[in-house]
Amino acid sequence: MNSILMIGGGVSGRAAASLAEVLNIKCRVVNDAETLNDDLDEIFAGVDQVVVSPGVLPSSRLYLGALERKISVISELELGMRYFPGKCVAVTGTNGKTTTVELTEFILKKLGAQVVAAGNIGLPLSEVSGNIIKNKIDAANMFAVLEVSSFQLEHTFDLPLAGAVLLNVESDHINRYPGGMDEYRAVKERIFRQVPEDKRFFGCSMTGIKRCDIFSINDGMIFCNDKCITALKDTALAAEHNQENLLAALALVQTLLPLENRLEELASALKEFKTGDHRISFVCEKKSVKYIDDSKATNPAAVIAAVKALAPEPNGNIVLIAGGLDKDMDFSPLTALSEYLRKVIVYGRCKDAVAQAFEGKVAIFDAGSDFALAVKDASQAALPGDTVLLSPAAASMDMFKDYKERGDVFARLVRELPV
Ligand code: ADP
Repeated sequence: MNSILMIGGGVSGRAAASLAEVLNIKCRVVNDAETLNDDLDEIFAGVDQVVVSPGVLPSSRLYLGALERKISVISELELGMRYFPGKCVAVTGTNGKTTTVELTEFILKKLGAQVVAAGNIGLPLSEVSGNIIKNKIDAANMFAVLEVSSFQLEHTFDLPLAGAVLLNVESDHINRYPGGMDEYRAVKERIFRQVPEDKRFFGCSMTGIKRCDIFSINDGMIFCNDKCITALKDTALAAEHNQENLLAALALVQTLLPLENRLEELASALKEFKTGDHRISFVCEKKSVKYIDDSKATNPAAVIAAVKALAPEPNGNIVLIAGGLDKDMDFSPLTALSEYLRKVIVYGRCKDAVAQAFEGKVAIFDAGSDFALAVKDASQAALPGDTVLLSPAAASMDMFKDYKERGDVFARLVRELPV
């Protein structure tokens, strides 16, 4: 590899460029908008490796230009992995990636391992590898736990992982895949290309496939083979969807560090772990109504997980706020939540599509693009004992910078409500 063309100048692009610099490889970072009128032959002259950041669309002129010229195209993740000296495990799936990666990293750290969480979680692996080389860090025994999105997997061919998990595949990002759910799933399964068959794990919500049989959950207790580790209720992972994440994380840790003789340490790590912000996160209670921020729920399946985590029985005592930016998702599975809901407040670009799932089943209020009105109406509709849940089922970027800002605005509006 003598000359890299990096398409996309964001976080991944900068990381790939800094790794190339450390390796003394020529690297030019480009994007489509700034090269619209430039000659493609000139851009690709001498380039023998194209690297793409996850944000680059399949219709990108530069990307198509690379394909036409038959130049190898890889993801930034794959570039980073070529130069990472330790062992890697990876997590993909529609929901639960971050939680599973954070839990895996947390357990490994508690067991004394040198570990880094990288990938889609916010730290590009190229940056990690570049720093290791630049600072001459002895990282042969370091583990990387990678969060991998479908966008990264599109251009990933060679990820020699020690183990990998596909948690679930639910309706999301369909606007990116003309072949619909089948194509989306096929892209997700690319994670297993280089993984030995017995180190390929699947989330428990995926039926009919083999999973790690060392760990299990029975009668509210977590087991390693027939030894009890701890009670689920003593962890922050008791909800059904988090049990999926928990078992996935344990399977990955086990591929790196055998756990059978370290069950006490494992139990205390599991009891200490907390899930991240904006994931079914309690904000406050006002007038005996609980307010929950689940802004990270950007597809219908995550909303279903949240409602079921909050209400074991369908008592109709949840007021749901949902809407935002659609990704051509199928919202119809939300209809199954009708019995759990007192009212649905829809807002944002896809409000009509979300409302349609509840038409004739639940009271609906259309807040237009007024998020403050959505929160106000939800608070007025809620009765003592109810829960107001922000779980949007859609992306945030029609009205907010990202899901964090959306959750933060929700929390602020809730705190400003009269006591
Ligand atoms: P990701 O990184 O895949 O987006 P997160 O762990 O950040 O996953 O969680 C995103 C949303 O999905 C949150 O609303 C969370 O409550 C929900 N969630 C987490 N794990 C699962 C799961 N295994 N199945 C369904 N929903 C989940």
